[in-house]
Amino acid sequence: MANSEKSFGASTNRRSGLSLEPLELFSSGCIILAGDAAHAMTPHQGSGAGQAVEDACVLAVLLCYKLCNKSNLSLIGKVYDQIRRPVANQVLAASCISGKLCGLVAPGFEDVEEGNAHVSFEKLTKLIDDFGKGMEWVWKESAEDDKRRAIEMLESLGTG
Ligand SMILES: Cc1cc2nc3c(=O)[nH]c(=O)nc-3n(C[C@H](O)[C@H](O)[C@H](O)COP(=O)(O)OP(=O)(O)OC[C@H]3O[C@@H](n4cnc5c(N)ncnc54)[C@H](O)[C@@H]3O)c2cc1C
Repeated sequence: MANSEKSFGASTNRRSGLSLEPLELFSSGCIILAGDAAHAMTPHQGSGAGQAVEDACVLAVLLCYKLCNKSNLSLIGKVYDQIRRPVANQVLAASCISGKLCGLVAPGFEDVEEGNAHVSFEKLTKLIDDFGKGMEWVWKESAEDDKRRAIEMLESLGTG
């Protein structure tokens, strides 16, 4: 768990919550990370389990594909990493931002103290708008596309 302010503002502040710092790799050799081991995130987009399932879908498609065999598991891991890491880390970052909005600790709310209910209507309206925009990916993106891209990438790389 991270308590650094550097990575996506992951913070120990109890109003925003904790998340893993974004990893630079989800796979190395035959070791492949999925679910919270790869991208534990704050609960503010309700997406931790969903992202774990998407990891599993992409991994299952790759492992079952005709080009997969015991000798090229590290290639499978690389393709999985290339497809899943950008998506999951983006959701991790979005979840962190949503947490800051929910906790009124996002930029623009520096003057709001815990327990201080005096937040202007305009600020709250913008907050709700920003929160909604941060969730748009849920409706626009699909794990089916990731599965297709994973197979295309594996095909283009050959069997390794
Ligand atoms: C309060 C709360 C609410 C949440 N709400 C949502 C939500 O609404 N929507 C959503 O998408 N996500 C939600 N999440 C996040 C979601 O629960 C996680 O992202 C998801 O469970 C991650 O799945 P996982 O399989 O990666 O890890 P886990 O569910 O943590 O599974 C890991 C498993 O490995 C086992 N294990 C650990 N070490 C070992 C070992 N050495 N040997 C054998 N087994 C081991 C553990 O016992 C556990 O069963 C919520 C999380 C919390 C805490």
